[in-house]
Amino acid sequence: MAKSLSERYKVKPGRKVKLSDWDPGDTAGWSREEAEAQVQENLARMFELQYLLAAQNKHALLVVLQAMDAAGKDGTIRNVMRGLNPQGCHVTSFKAPSTDELDHDFLWRIHANSPRKGDIGIFNRSHYEDVLVTRVRKLISKDVWSARYRQINDFERILSDNCTTILKFYLHITKNEQADRLRKRLEDPKKNWKLSPADSEERKLWDDYMAAYQDAISKCSTRYGAWYIVPSNRKWFRDLVVSDAVLGALKNMKLKLPQPAFDLSKIVIE
Ligand code: ATP
Ligand code: MG
Repeated sequence: MAKSLSERYKVKPGRKVKLSDWDPGDTAGWSREEAEAQVQENLARMFELQYLLAAQNKHALLVVLQAMDAAGKDGTIRNVMRGLNPQGCHVTSFKAPSTDELDHDFLWRIHANSPRKGDIGIFNRSHYEDVLVTRVRKLISKDVWSARYRQINDFERILSDNCTTILKFYLHITKNEQADRLRKRLEDPKKNWKLSPADSEERKLWDDYMAAYQDAISKCSTRYGAWYIVPSNRKWFRDLVVSDAVLGALKNMKLKLPQPAFDLSKIVIE
């Protein structure tokens, strides 16, 4: 069987990733027009399969989005999830933890927001912040963050063993592309609200973030929770790759309408 487009960007379990080897500008030979048309087809098919996902109520899909600021987490959700039925779709944006959340283990809030059977859950940032910003900003010690990769793998294994398919996307942009996008936010009054002083501060730590992402992706790309490194300098190609992977995951579930649990011939509608 031919490899799907998104398979190219999937990190094999055990592979040690060097992000500089992955081209953020890659488009795999696609033109913008072709890609946009394919995304529309993917979205239509996703909508049909989501209906079966909900009807069958046996599987859940979890989509994790991680990226540097302005890399397109919000845009991906808008463009790739727009065709779904909102009733079966739940987006959670994880911010800095509250004091209540900090009094629990780091996966507590994550588990509580994981999708139920029949649903698609989307994480805008996730438990990976607990080995990214916390590590780079030295909010926790090395002993603590280095133990978390295994804890994350164990947790994702539990979800996977309980009928949740996990897709994790790192939206890969260049530092220059980030500068262009942040400058646009600064110059365009309609985009000013998107800018935060923290963005330029985090940008100064770019290399530390890349090192932290490399470790997270290398250590936590597993059979039951694969990472995809999505070339994201071109937004239309990013949307194509993510929609291809989501559609592929739904197809792999081999979803079908459930059989009625009762004898239809005995039901009389008067
Ligand atoms: P936007 O694209 O709108 O800027 P965002 O995801 O960057 O979206 P913000 O409110 O700007 O949203 O930032 C959320 C902040 O919360 C990020 O700086 C992120 O690193 C931080 N955060 C998320 N999870 C954790 C965590 N577990 N520990 C510490 N900080 C966290
Ligand atoms: Mg932000």
